Amino acid sequence: MLPSFFESVLQLIVRTSTDLPPDVRAAMKTSLVAEPEGTRASQALTIIAQNIDLAVDTEGAICQDTGMPTFEIKVPLGANQIWMRQQIREAVAEATRRGKLRPNSVDSITGKNSGDNLGPGTPIIHFDQWEKDTIEIKLILKGGGCENTNAQYSVPVELPHLGRADRTLEGVRKCILHAVWQAQGKGCSPGAVGVCVGGDRTSGYLHAKEQLFRSLDDVNPDPRLAELESSIMGTVNNLEIGAMGFGGKVTLIGCKIGALNRLPASFFVSVAYDCWAFRRLGVELNAKTGAIEHWLYRDPSSPIIPMLDQAGFTRTGREVVLKAPISDETIRSLKVGDVVMVSGRMFTGRDAVHSHLMKHDPPVDLRGSVLYHCGPVVVKEGESWRVTAAGPTTSIREEPYQGEIIKRYGVRAVIGKGGMGAKTLAALKEHGAVYLNAIGGAAQFYARSIKKVDDVSLLEFGTPEAMWHLTVEDFPAIVTMDAHGNSLHKDIEQESGQHLEAIGV
Ligand code: SF4
Repeated sequence: MLPSFFESVLQLIVRTSTDLPPDVRAAMKTSLVAEPEGTRASQALTIIAQNIDLAVDTEGAICQDTGMPTFEIKVPLGANQIWMRQQIREAVAEATRRGKLRPNSVDSITGKNSGDNLGPGTPIIHFDQWEKDTIEIKLILKGGGCENTNAQYSVPVELPHLGRADRTLEGVRKCILHAVWQAQGKGCSPGAVGVCVGGDRTSGYLHAKEQLFRSLDDVNPDPRLAELESSIMGTVNNLEIGAMGFGGKVTLIGCKIGALNRLPASFFVSVAYDCWAFRRLGVELNAKTGAIEHWLYRDPSSPIIPMLDQAGFTRTGREVVLKAPISDETIRSLKVGDVVMVSGRMFTGRDAVHSHLMKHDPPVDLRGSVLYHCGPVVVKEGESWRVTAAGPTTSIREEPYQGEIIKRYGVRAVIGKGGMGAKTLAALKEHGAVYLNAIGGAAQFYARSIKKVDDVSLLEFGTPEAMWHLTVEDFPAIVTMDAHGNSLHKDIEQESGQHLEAIGV
């Protein structure tokens, strides 16, 4: 068979997970320059830039959520696709063993994580044939936080702040603007959208995701869609959602639109949202050996230019140090906008832990504790564990449980990203707790704040869902919901809704 095929696919996976392509880096650099120094958005983008550099330097996952591996492959006539599929699956399992991919494949009936990213439907592998005598493999790693912000519209539809979207390009424009507004910071903005106009519900989403394989700096060959893309990019950043939904000038770094024919009765607009950790790469392989002939999206002769040419996140001296157990008095002294540095003990907990805590006592005393919404990448080294990637996960998923858990167990600080809703906000006020927004996707940056894994509970849920007991030092985050009823997320959503009304007409 092809002796180098497995190694080439493994290289592609590792590189995609650890090294952002030049077009995304350039867009993120432009975003960083656009935000005035000292603003929340600028602080967030500085941490993101530092994280991108750290990931390359250490060959670590850029974000702990390495997403759903999706391969788009073109092969010459006669290529053995059955063998290739098997090799790709083995390369995915090997990359998972090496900690470059997080185990992300969960049995939807039992909730059990397969542990190697293999299972029904994972990874996604699409084959096509072409007339060339080389093999092209493109890979995208798109995480759950941004996947959850995808949106599909059946037009005509009434949209909040925008009115009716008709079956016209203006209607399509409204749908895209609405999808970006609705995502706020939950998909780790600034993001990029791939859009499909038309198709059916299934092909629409697929084609929308395929648009994300286009380079951010290309120009749509269809002049009507090119104009729509540039009109979206010309107006969407006026929404002032900004990095992580903190408010700011850059909300979107790319908009790529395709179109498919539709049934006369249907008109879907499908929007695939990808985060700043926009991990997609590709290779062209020799069809006889499977060796990499060249990389797509990057010029291998060009060196990787670091995102930052000075120190990354720097302290202003106004940061508040938080160390668990935290008192009611300390928590109530915090207000929205404060930057905190968390040190000491922290527990992770996300979907499975929250659902467990609704029915069972916690495995540890949570009074005065810091609960981190995080599904880390953790590797076992002898008898101990080491966290290799540990950014925050999207907190809104825990909204049905969080208030009750704060009340029952006395949690004082919840760390996550994207903010939480009215129930949690009320519980923060009533029971004396805060919500701290960490920078989504900054998995390498935060992994360096984790000094030790002290223990683990509920490991039967799989490594991303277990409750890890961590010792952290100088873990920075921003108070975005305080114990006085204030929420930055609520404010930005309202203000950006008003901007939407102004630009959508
Ligand atoms: S950067 Fe954010 S949205 Fe993207 S994969 Fe990571 S956690 Fe998910």
